[in-house]
Amino acid sequence: MKRTHFIKLLAATPLAAAAMNLSDLNKLSSGFEKTNRLPVLFVGHGNPMNALLDNPFTQSLRKTGEYLRSNYRINAILVVSAHWLTKGSFVQASTAPETIHDFGGFPQELFDAQYNAPGSPEYAIEVPKLAPTVKTTTDWGLDHGAWTILMHLFPKADIPVFQLSIDYYDKPMDYHYKLAQQLKALRERGVLVIGSGNVVHNLRMSMEALQKGNDTFVYDWATEFDTWVGEKLSKGDYASLTDYGKAGNAGLLSVPTPDHYIPMLYSLGMTNPGEEFINTYEELTFGGISMRTFKIG
Ligand code: ZN
Repeated sequence: MKRTHFIKLLAATPLAAAAMNLSDLNKLSSGFEKTNRLPVLFVGHGNPMNALLDNPFTQSLRKTGEYLRSNYRINAILVVSAHWLTKGSFVQASTAPETIHDFGGFPQELFDAQYNAPGSPEYAIEVPKLAPTVKTTTDWGLDHGAWTILMHLFPKADIPVFQLSIDYYDKPMDYHYKLAQQLKALRERGVLVIGSGNVVHNLRMSMEALQKGNDTFVYDWATEFDTWVGEKLSKGDYASLTDYGKAGNAGLLSVPTPDHYIPMLYSLGMTNPGEEFINTYEELTFGGISMRTFKIG
């Protein structure tokens, strides 16, 4: 399916798909109780086929999902995916987000996959209250950065899911980190925040490596940058990760375009100093894709 980045503002399409109006939603959400603060996740999503595969990466997602489910009350899930890039920041507020198959050249089985979780207009409208630059929209749905990992994290698809877009075209990296800081309070209202991208993501060079037919080959710059990021993460030095150019050539080769890197800045910006950091999965695949996945809090 070919998607455009055309955005319908809520003002122009007042939650047409939703059964309730804004004031009803406001009444509903103003009663949200404070909950225990939920952890934040960052997931390196990699190949969309992972949605259908049983491998060490997807097994680790299942384990993380089961852990979260048995230890926390999760009212909704907010995903910031590398695959929803917009001009301006938008939050998806429909009641039933569609599963978007935003890729080509994969088996029919992947195009047939559906993740039928409900949406969460109730929580989506909380986002502009915390960060007024964010606008609500009923466009978009769940892109593959969201659903391919959610199929393993929460296979029952019974927790409402909504997405926040990435204001991609002219914002500095620290814009994303700072926007996330404004949204931290969601974690105390039962919202599980998941950034979904890849720390190292150089698709062009990965394809070149694949064509050479060596499955285990990994570029040195990919290892160097993934290690650099891993060290910053384990020290809690999150703010400095907004400048991946500090890692020199390895950073520039690992992040040729920042779309897959930015979701991590949202995960990091949602945290408070001193929260526990745990890598839940680490792997470099396809020569230059890092599957590094972590939990904070
Ligand atoms: Zn991706």
